[in-house]
Amino acid sequence: MSLRVFNTLSRNLDEFRPLDPTGKRVGIYTCGPTVYDFAHIGNFRAFAFEDLARRYLVYRGYEVVHVMNITDVEDKIIRKVRETGEPLKQLTGRFTAAFLDDCRALNLLPAHHVPRATDHIPEMLSLISTLMEKGVAYQAPDKSVYFSIAKFARYGQLKKIDADQMRPGERVKLDEYEKESLGDFALWKAWDEADGDIGWDSPWGRGRPGWHIECSAMSMKYLGESFDLHCGGEDLVFPHHEDEIAQSEAATGKPFSRYWLHCAYLLVNGQKMSKRFGNFFTLRDLLAKGYTGRELRYTLIAEHYRRQLNFTFEGVDAARASLARIDEFLVKLREVAGNAAGAAPLPPGVAAVKDGFETALDDDLNISAALGVLFNFIRDINKRLAEHAVPPAEAAAILDLWQRFDTVLGFGVPQAQEAPADIVALAAQRQAARKAKDFKLADQIRDELKAKGWVIEDTAKGPKLKRL
Ligand SMILES: [Zn+2]
Repeated sequence: MSLRVFNTLSRNLDEFRPLDPTGKRVGIYTCGPTVYDFAHIGNFRAFAFEDLARRYLVYRGYEVVHVMNITDVEDKIIRKVRETGEPLKQLTGRFTAAFLDDCRALNLLPAHHVPRATDHIPEMLSLISTLMEKGVAYQAPDKSVYFSIAKFARYGQLKKIDADQMRPGERVKLDEYEKESLGDFALWKAWDEADGDIGWDSPWGRGRPGWHIECSAMSMKYLGESFDLHCGGEDLVFPHHEDEIAQSEAATGKPFSRYWLHCAYLLVNGQKMSKRFGNFFTLRDLLAKGYTGRELRYTLIAEHYRRQLNFTFEGVDAARASLARIDEFLVKLREVAGNAAGAAPLPPGVAAVKDGFETALDDDLNISAALGVLFNFIRDINKRLAEHAVPPAEAAAILDLWQRFDTVLGFGVPQAQEAPADIVALAAQRQAARKAKDFKLADQIRDELKAKGWVIEDTAKGPKLKRL
């Protein structure tokens, strides 16, 4: 079996084959955040999906180089600088740090390169110069430099835009625009008063780069003119990614990215997320409500990336329950495994879970199917555990296998957990109360333990403390 992915460029499930002749190295570029505010969970759905894709490629044996840019100059940032008076570097530095903190909370693997746009102005100017030399870009009377879509025959290949919908010669200077205003787009935006002290000198006068040229320049600098995989949220297909392809391919004459993967939108309670509907959440909002990064990671990745994800609090509660089920399973296995090593070959019926997991993920990274396979597996093994039918060496081997699955899932594997001393003391008091037949006190202590996040299970071997 080999990995197949839905490529927005071909509109097909394509077999994934890297450019590298040895078939080993894979270059991934993912469009990073525009750092003018905290990223919201819709943004993080895409980042979490990209993390999953990268982790699975590594699981599959590829050597991945992952580049994620930081867009630190762009229309929305400039607007915020104008509104708040906070200097550009300070504003973008603050929100870049917050973004990277959020990524850690979700256990997203850090990209190998995290280039900032403002550190790559020379690369952008050089790319624009090439486009000018090739005659596909021009400076307009407003002094800004535009890409002429009429000069690039393959324009519209990603979004599938027909030539008759295009308006070459009509110009759009905004970084984000609708298909209706499709036309020549800005590579270099001439300075105007609204830009304040933000600007760089260029052969075409003072100004700043357009958003799209930032990603073309940075991806090609770190991954080469052609690379394997470019990802983003589906809102980036047009104009951002369409324009990236046009600029890059017009400049180099080579195909830009081979595969384009796009993650579907996230809804909250069935509605588009909006401050107006009171359903707009940053990751921080949810952490403040007491959810963990791990629970939110589960929620964000558990639905296949091309299906819309409807985010609800019931959904996060379900994720919490699913993780508890996994943790409980692993803790039980650890108890059974004891000091046994995991070298024992797994019985064929057990080893099949690995094939099931891989077959699901090979099918366009179908994580929901992969989780289904894992939960069926947990159910079957739990049954055998209850019958004391899992030998220690097998339990250890299953734990090893799970560690490997977790390199993709990123949920973390709980270590054997010991209750802190005050919890153990409370449990002992409850035991004493029960012995004294003071069931009221025993129940009170049980509730107190519950409030502290622990439950007591009365087993044949006596009471056992467990994390809620
Ligand atoms: Zn981008």
